[in-house]
Amino acid sequence: MKFGGTSIGSGKNMVRIVRLVEEEPRQKVVVISAMAGVTDKLDKTANKVINLPASVVEEEVNRFYNDLLDQYKIAAEEAISDKHILKETIEKVRELLNELRITLLGVGYLEELTPKSLDYVLSFGERLSVLVLTGALKSNGIPATSLTGYEVGIITNSMFGRARPVHNLMNKTIKARLDPLLSQGIIPVVTGFIAADKNARITTLGRGGSDYTASLLGRYLNVEEVQIWTDVDGIFTTDPKLVPDARLISELSYVEAMDLAYFGAKVIHSNMIEPAMNADIPVRVKNTFNPENEGTLIVREHKKIEGIIKAVTIMREVRIINLSGVGMAETPNIAGRVFNLLGSHNINIIMISGSSEANLSLVISKKDLDKAIESLTELEGDGIRNIEVIEDICIMTVVGAGMRGTRGIAARVFSTISQADANIIMIAQGSFEANIAFVVEENDAERVLKALHDKFIV
Ligand code: ASP
Ligand code: MG
Repeated sequence: MKFGGTSIGSGKNMVRIVRLVEEEPRQKVVVISAMAGVTDKLDKTANKVINLPASVVEEEVNRFYNDLLDQYKIAAEEAISDKHILKETIEKVRELLNELRITLLGVGYLEELTPKSLDYVLSFGERLSVLVLTGALKSNGIPATSLTGYEVGIITNSMFGRARPVHNLMNKTIKARLDPLLSQGIIPVVTGFIAADKNARITTLGRGGSDYTASLLGRYLNVEEVQIWTDVDGIFTTDPKLVPDARLISELSYVEAMDLAYFGAKVIHSNMIEPAMNADIPVRVKNTFNPENEGTLIVREHKKIEGIIKAVTIMREVRIINLSGVGMAETPNIAGRVFNLLGSHNINIIMISGSSEANLSLVISKKDLDKAIESLTELEGDGIRNIEVIEDICIMTVVGAGMRGTRGIAARVFSTISQADANIIMIAQGSFEANIAFVVEENDAERVLKALHDKFIV
């Protein structure tokens, strides 16, 4: 059972979690995120203190320490009724916050924030929330214990900021650490998002990575079900804020869910599907604030529906980079070198299309743009003549595994877009044929979204 930032966002909400955990009759492991907003605050503060004059670093760090201490004290007081457990929990919170305070002072005085030290700073969000939730469970007479991702055996490589699990180790470690607790009836309350490398240095799985923690644990414990408890009923046919007709999707296949998450449905992290899929474990998305709702179930088989397309997504804050030059055709492995170069700078390519050997278009996140352009200029002259950036665009997708082998869907999608009077800038289709992705101008996007949703879904 994984609970996200809003679900754990206050002491009152933690009481809800206690109830949901209590009501689940099966053996369970609880995974939680940082309280809503805390990871962002840790990130902001670490990046702020490196730029402050040494004379005010301490003042800033102390202010931050006091704010967090207040926040967790209030949460603990709301969630923990047993006086003794409350006192003990606040003491542990204070100790951990003091460790954070010292870390931030170090970062501020040294004016240095490496990906490794940032991961260390970010880890405090989850480490703090497990303390309070464990206290709340115990206070209700439920045996529980707090553990970090490392303590439960999630071991990653040393790519700080976006570490990848080392599967052949976790095959043994996770079961070895958790089985003894489970067989004693103790509920492990595990930090999402954070893990450690083989040298026990704290790493993170990338922002939003708590879902990934849950599915990794699920896979290696071979559970019946991974539950993602969030603040909406499940995965919708599109963003209900943009299209009020959007509906909850009751069942999706792994491939569909992965595509949806990848291209902008923020309810689950796209990484989390793979471990579940490999072990054929169903994933259920549920609403902490409306637990009666069935939510969305994600399984292997895809359910064929009449309209074929199950969802329409929109992803903003992206940019196209167009690489062109006639010399590209004669340069061996130019695409490989572009991908390697961007990969080595930790830049994720969201979408690719190449219409000829002399042209390659990539879509990347807006935040990676400067880094990407800077690194790509290295290849200028090597066949690449021109690097052009296109702004004010977004990626849209239609998703549905039934598209595979069904004729005429693409034609209908594109004619709907043209009837909505929008121009398509770029197109790509995944080889699973479970999605068609295309880029349109930002100004056209909402109109296109509504037109596609009206045509295919409602
Ligand atoms: N707390 C982390 C984040 O905000 C991980 C998560 O919430 O899944 O990115
Ligand atoms: Mg999340």
